Amino acid sequence: MKIFVLNCGSSSIKYQLFNIEQKELLTKGIVEKIGLKGSFLKNKRNDGDSVKLKIEIPNHQEGIKHILDIITDKSHGSLKNLNEINAIGHRVVHGGEKFNSSVLITDEVIQKMEECIELAPLHNPPNLKGIYSMKKLLPDIPQIGVFDTAFHQTMPAKSFMYAIPYSLYEKHSIRRYGFHGTSHRYVSQRACETLNLDYSKQKIISCHLGNGASIAAIKNGKSFDTSMGLTPIEGLMMGTRTGDLDLGVLFYIMNKENLNSKEAYALVNKQSGVLGVSGVSNDMREVEDAARNGNERAKLALEMYFYRVKKYIGAYAAAMGGVDLLIFTGGIGENGPETREDICKDFEFLGLEFDKEKNAGKRGEEIVISKANSKVKVTVTPTDEELVIAQDTYEIVTKL
Ligand code: AMP
Repeated sequence: MKIFVLNCGSSSIKYQLFNIEQKELLTKGIVEKIGLKGSFLKNKRNDGDSVKLKIEIPNHQEGIKHILDIITDKSHGSLKNLNEINAIGHRVVHGGEKFNSSVLITDEVIQKMEECIELAPLHNPPNLKGIYSMKKLLPDIPQIGVFDTAFHQTMPAKSFMYAIPYSLYEKHSIRRYGFHGTSHRYVSQRACETLNLDYSKQKIISCHLGNGASIAAIKNGKSFDTSMGLTPIEGLMMGTRTGDLDLGVLFYIMNKENLNSKEAYALVNKQSGVLGVSGVSNDMREVEDAARNGNERAKLALEMYFYRVKKYIGAYAAAMGGVDLLIFTGGIGENGPETREDICKDFEFLGLEFDKEKNAGKRGEEIVISKANSKVKVTVTPTDEELVIAQDTYEIVTKL
């Protein structure tokens, strides 16, 4: 069965085409700079064939048309025609309290997705554009929505409620939702599978450390708590986001710097975090290079980054009454051995015996980086959100 996965952002569309029973990726690609100068499409087939087309792409629907053309192209395509696609899986960022699992997209579902826009005004509209475009272009093919927030819907109220007037939760649904749910679900299940552990009986802490970063406490197979909140700003320090911040600081800055709410939002979302503290970059590799060259602010940014992940691990271990498995994933978690080593330092009191040699091993591959006798197992488990979307899509459409 061929499943086409779409991840539509505000100015980009990422896509992957799977032969899902074999977990085989047939082709993947990206359309970038939609509606901007210099837009292009890049497609890479699994046999290594690669093509980049510089074309004008004024909107998402045009972008998707070009994608469908390239995947059926005689020279660069993977399909003879579009009828070969059995189903389409869409990444949808925010499902609010309306979606706790992946769903077949119907008119009623679209209506509910529209209602979630106010919770994610930057992310959900482009996701919906992808859905509308596909409905127009391939109306007979079933479409499935997979939500970043859905996995975290199992959190208990004590984890998801904010200490604000309860009426605001009732009136505006203001609460912690959490993100990266597809990734946390995948890596936690995958790590248990590879270690032969019973997923339903583990206390797991999953660290998704990418440009956006979040950490999740997963108890007995269910998300119990997570660091991102109503929005992705809360929690860990990130590439450009503050993570946890005394709210008083924000009011103080707004006052001192004369910022309106839009400017303040940009400050905490786009100008802070590793970039803001280091003044170098939001890219960890560049910050690590600067730190190695003696840049004190880069060193500080890294120390703060590690320390905050460490604090959350401690908090979640306490919240769950222990931890059996710690997982690293995301661009930094998968590729940054120094980051993992720093974070895991001094966790012997939890029963974590870190294996430096294994940690220094292969990059970007599934590895166990705790010693054989470590009570807490530690893994590097590369995430694969697109594969999860394809698998969820497969499971739903085979039952239709
Ligand atoms: P993501 O958002 O998951 O794509 O992750 C992006 C982050 O991963 C950036 O901060 C990159 O610098 C970081 N990253 C990617 N590769 C490496 C690497 N080899 N070493 C350290 N950080 C890396």
